[in-house]
Amino acid sequence: MLHPIEPSATGAATAVRRVTAAGPAAQPAEPLDDNPWHTGAACRRDEAGLFFAPSKEPTAARLAREEQAKQVCARCPVLLECREHALAQPEPYGVWGGLTAAERRVVLARRRRRDAELREARRVGAGRIAG
Ligand code: SF4
Repeated sequence: MLHPIEPSATGAATAVRRVTAAGPAAQPAEPLDDNPWHTGAACRRDEAGLFFAPSKEPTAARLAREEQAKQVCARCPVLLECREHALAQPEPYGVWGGLTAAERRVVLARRRRRDAELREARRVGAGRIAG
């Protein structure tokens, strides 16, 4: 899984690296061009440190940082691709596609509920046709 900006161990931004559930350090660096949707990412330039929380970040600082990250996302031409990528993995950390991890969990829960309702509606509808 890739994020256009990822903080390094020193806190400075680096180019895209592969991120896994085991953490960013578990995988070697990977060039951006492997995934075309990253090419136009607004966060590739200079917004390092906005997208992932440092350890022990106070709540007020987190909220302010996430809001700044979302402002970058709002002008990003690949927002939808990034968001769907983060939802599909799913990415457990950071701001992706203008959504925090908590917001992505809400979206995923809504999608699961909607899918369950659609399955149930199809099942009921199929029963009416058969009956
Ligand atoms: S939507 Fe946000 S996190 Fe995703 S590529 Fe664009 S600026 Fe980066």
